[in-house]
Amino acid sequence: MRRCKVCGKKYDFCPQCTLTVQPEWLARYDKQECVELDEIFSYYICGLVDAKRTYEKLLPYNLENKKLEPKFENAYKEIIQKIEVVE
Ligand SMILES: [Zn+2]
Repeated sequence: MRRCKVCGKKYDFCPQCTLTVQPEWLARYDKQECVELDEIFSYYICGLVDAKRTYEKLLPYNLENKKLEPKFENAYKEIIQKIEVVE
């Protein structure tokens, strides 16, 4: 069993199958969506994209209804706070 580094969901992973059947990202994420979220958050955390643009990118993912690991949850809360200050 693996645990997704973004949403914390446990999922089955077979290291032997990785190279043939499964995409490489399955070693760390349970689904493609989490790969994209990690990338979006990474840009924000590294300061490459500001809170407003990050928020816009995150909108289609409907994060209000999703579980996230603390690192991402905190980053998301921070983004929401910054957006509210601006408005
Ligand atoms: Zn996930």
